[in-house]
Amino acid sequence: QMAPDFLLAVEGLTVSFDGFKAVDDLSFYVDENEIRVIIGPNGAGKTTVLDLICGRTRATAGSVRFKNTELTRLKEYEIVRAGVGRKFQNPSIYDDLTVFENLEISYPRGRGVVGALTFKRDAAVKERVQEVAETIFLADHLNQRAEYLSHGQKQWLEIGMLLIQDPELLMLDEPVAGMSVAERKKTAELLNRIIKDRSVIVIEHDMKFVEDIAHKVTVLHQGKILSEGTMAKVQSDPKVVEVYLGH
Ligand code: ADP
Repeated sequence: QMAPDFLLAVEGLTVSFDGFKAVDDLSFYVDENEIRVIIGPNGAGKTTVLDLICGRTRATAGSVRFKNTELTRLKEYEIVRAGVGRKFQNPSIYDDLTVFENLEISYPRGRGVVGALTFKRDAAVKERVQEVAETIFLADHLNQRAEYLSHGQKQWLEIGMLLIQDPELLMLDEPVAGMSVAERKKTAELLNRIIKDRSVIVIEHDMKFVEDIAHKVTVLHQGKILSEGTMAKVQSDPKVVEVYLGH
């Protein structure tokens, strides 16, 4: 079989809610090691696109091909297993567990070991937790209870809980909302670290942050692509200017 050209190929993706097309014949392609940012006014269909990719919402029509796998036929947990991680806006970490424990419980189960091999697994988990903790700037906070982390650190921890499963595609919904300027900068750095092994799709409103991280921007409007390309290109697209300033 031929190698796929894209990590993710979304084609003709459509979903109707009571006849209203929230996502309408949408096609876009994400490369390996790419940071793609989806922007667009409220109600444009951004969250619905991520819901469709991760199997939370069923498509009415179209396909989502991830490597060689058609995702629209799979269940949500099968899509996770295929290598797609999704972070929602509100962090779902365990407040009364430590950073270490939050990461440890997120380590994929069933990666093969029982009995005498448990010890070996524990060592592997510990090493992986340490590695992820360093990536998310929390290596010095491993024994801290998650409830005492700052808002930004909690967001990073949740990203870490996804990273420990080593997804090839990570989808983040407004990851820097509520973060300080310093935390935003570090989040950009975090994203640039992790795309060496994967691609990331980010929904974002903060245009300064978009400018910092986006390899390519997809502008959605009424469930369709209004414009696509580099930030510089879409920012100067008259159609985009009209949608953002026209109302
Ligand atoms: P965005 O994330 O760009 O703000 P959404 O994807 O949340 O937009 O929503 C796109 C449109 O689809 C909105 O008009 C929203 O009301 C509608 N919508 C989203 N999910 C549902 C649903 N489960 N049932 C009915 N309408 C929905």
